[in-house]
Amino acid sequence: MTVTSGVQGRCAHCQTLLDLEPWQLNAMAMQEHFNCKHCQRPLKLSCPEQIRRFKALGSLATVRATMIVLCATVLLVTLVLEWVGLVSLAQQLSISALMLASYLLVMGIARRRLRRPLLLQVA
Ligand SMILES: [Zn+2]
Repeated sequence: MTVTSGVQGRCAHCQTLLDLEPWQLNAMAMQEHFNCKHCQRPLKLSCPEQIRRFKALGSLATVRATMIVLCATVLLVTLVLEWVGLVSLAQQLSISALMLASYLLVMGIARRRLRRPLLLQVA
C-alpha cells in the first residue's frame, strides 16, 4: 500500500490524474522534477498560479486546528454562560449549532480546494 497525501496532480504529458505521494510533494516544494508514475516522463511544478495553490494546501492543517480551537472555546463559553444564567438553553443550543455549521462549512471549502488537482508542467 502506498501512502498518498490526498493531493492530486494532472500529468502534462499523458493527462493522467496522479495521486501524489509525500515525497513528490517534497520534490515540488524544492522545485525538483519527478517522473510521472504512468508515462515515466519528468514533471515539475513551475507555473506561479499552481505554486501558489500548492503552498495553500499546507495551510489546511492550520485552518482545521484553528477552527477546532475556536469551536471548542465558543461551545465552552456558551455552556458556562448558560450555567450562570446569562443565556437561555435555546440560545446556547442555537449558538452551538451555528458554530458547528460554520466549522463544517469552512472545512468543506478547504477540502474542495484540496481535491482540485494541481496542473503539473513538463520538466
Ligand atoms: Zn504522465
